[in-house]
Amino acid sequence: MIAFDGVTYDYERVSALRDVTLSLDRATTTALIGPSGCGKSTLVKVAVGLLLPTRGRVRIGEQALDPAHLTSLRHRIGYVIQSGGLFPHLTARQNVTLCARHLRRPGTWISERFQMLADLVRLSGDLLDRYPGQISGGQRQRVSVMRALMLDPDVLLLDEPLGALDPMVRHDLQQDLRALFDRLQKTVVLVTHDLSEAAFFSDRIVLMREGRIVQQGTYADLRHAPADAFVRAFLAAQQPLAPRHE
Ligand code: ADP
Ligand code: MG
Repeated sequence: MIAFDGVTYDYERVSALRDVTLSLDRATTTALIGPSGCGKSTLVKVAVGLLLPTRGRVRIGEQALDPAHLTSLRHRIGYVIQSGGLFPHLTARQNVTLCARHLRRPGTWISERFQMLADLVRLSGDLLDRYPGQISGGQRQRVSVMRALMLDPDVLLLDEPLGALDPMVRHDLQQDLRALFDRLQKTVVLVTHDLSEAAFFSDRIVLMREGRIVQQGTYADLRHAPADAFVRAFLAAQQPLAPRHE
């Protein structure tokens, strides 16, 4: 569904992606994981078409991600970022429906789809007519997911969507999002730096380091057959801390 073929992306001073080749199958969830600065967000931005690769190619389905097709391809991709990225001057409802209104979708189509998505992310009532500053962080992320799904994209990319939430809110949203991904059967890429979250959500984990993929496979593959010392160290660092006093 999404294929990266030898993708390199250079910022002015940093090479953030170095010859990344990766293909993500339809209706699977892939977790993208790795230390801060390893290139996860850059990879997602390249997939959305926000950054054009310095070298290499990206395909979404059969379509090459090039400037000529960018707008139509973007409508096939939903994108959620850590802070939600909602427009502060629009209500939750206006945020979610903005793009569909811009594309002049029929009003009844918009309101029916909006209601279906609100049910899906379990939001209701006057909350949907509040501004982002008037709802909680977890609710904002639910609204961001609704917005990303409004045009019914094939692909959903989420860049650390749960990173800024407190543990209980995060736990609830983890459960709801996994159920939602299972139900929708979309191609999902979820960026996280938490290995247990990656294992909870995904069929496949892709571990990156310094712009390269060091290993991809199931959680069991990483645990039982780590590709190198870095993978072993990454896994070891994710073990829960031992309490000082039992
Ligand atoms: P991650 O999401 O894994 O933390 P990023 O993709 O954000 O990593 O960043 C990869 C590398 O590219 C880092 O070294 C980062 O400092 C650099 N980088 C990210 N964004 C920019 C930018 N807009 N300009 C210059 N360098 C950047
Ligand atoms: Mg990032």
